[in-house]
Amino acid sequence: MTLNVTKIRTDFPILKRKIAGKPLVYLDNAATSQKPKAVIAAIDRYYQEYNANVHRGVHRLSEEATIAFEQSREKFARFIGAKTSKEIIFVRNATEALNLVALTWARANLRSGDRILLTEMEHHSNIVPWQMLAKEKGLRIDYVEIRDDGTLNWENFEQLIKERPKIFSLAHVSNALGTINPVRQMAREAHEMGATVIVDAAQSVPHMPVNVADLECDFLAASGHKMLAPTGIGMLYGRQDLLEHTEPLMGGGEMIKEVHLQGARWNDLPWKFEAGTPNIEGVIGLGAAVDYLTKLGMQNVREHEKDITRYAIERLANVKSLALYGTREIEKRGAVISFNLGDIHAHDLATILDTQGIAIRSGQHCAEPLMERLKVPATSRASFYIYNTRREADILVRALEKAAKMFKI
Ligand code: PMP
Repeated sequence: MTLNVTKIRTDFPILKRKIAGKPLVYLDNAATSQKPKAVIAAIDRYYQEYNANVHRGVHRLSEEATIAFEQSREKFARFIGAKTSKEIIFVRNATEALNLVALTWARANLRSGDRILLTEMEHHSNIVPWQMLAKEKGLRIDYVEIRDDGTLNWENFEQLIKERPKIFSLAHVSNALGTINPVRQMAREAHEMGATVIVDAAQSVPHMPVNVADLECDFLAASGHKMLAPTGIGMLYGRQDLLEHTEPLMGGGEMIKEVHLQGARWNDLPWKFEAGTPNIEGVIGLGAAVDYLTKLGMQNVREHEKDITRYAIERLANVKSLALYGTREIEKRGAVISFNLGDIHAHDLATILDTQGIAIRSGQHCAEPLMERLKVPATSRASFYIYNTRREADILVRALEKAAKMFKI
């Protein structure tokens, strides 16, 4: 066993909950993770002991809040291998991080007729901001196709990258299929063709070692709430030289060095991009979450998730009439399993499982183009994290077998 899951479970108060008289089996981690006591306590301590605005006051409380706030930035910078914490911009979520790149760096650097390359498996948050920019500036968007096994079609990528897109933006791990994309290999080719590489790491940073230098990416987006931290805190990594030469999106307090009636001078990185009072409690909670994950070891997290995913796939593959999506190669997938049971609609299935205390996701997973590609209206999705067990995978399988009997399929 790579993680002491029994011990980990005691750190998550919500896991003691019963739903309809049954123990909660929480398998919706790709949507958001549960929070350990250490994160809840860090936020509680902030409000009980040193609540104040950051970067402003010289009084003790403000100093303490600013130190905790900036320490969290340093912890996250180390966590993803950034060269300096100046490369970490705090935003609301991964969606805002991607929009921020689109509205600042990309808006300034792309011209009419330029191309953007995405993939068919992107979350809407890595499609729609680019469509909006494309409409504004007259850009063209191409999509790397996926193969039937849910991996990217390499030959198609090689063709499209030769068209010299200005941007190649892709998910590190697909939230709907679990596919882990070979980002580094693709980033190298993309850079050779002159593209800037943006990685949507919402589903990878919480689950495996992620290092921006190893990935060779220029920007990377992530969300705190999927990695044990509160909602409302997201992170954008950007290469320092790119951020230095990019104008901020929003103006106001915090993001300026000096303001006069006829103009203003921007603050240094990263504050240039952080106008207004930030989500201080969210950032402090993020710091505690990074500490918690660092202590477990991200390679251990990955090994644990591989074990449970392998086990769950083996068992699910034996459920009659169950269609599993995505590759079976465990090295190429994260802890997300999408499936359909016969012709039961995914929402009906999720509702039935809920009566047994099992929380799964159903629908299009904010990836409608992918659903069109798979030719399904929706899927059910079970996604695992550090506190899930093989026993919970068994409970899921038994509930699905029961549902199949109920619907006579
Ligand atoms: N990208 C991927 C791959 C995701 O799974 C998600 C969340 N489902 C997002 C982006 C957006 O994250 P958020 O809603 O936290 O902005």
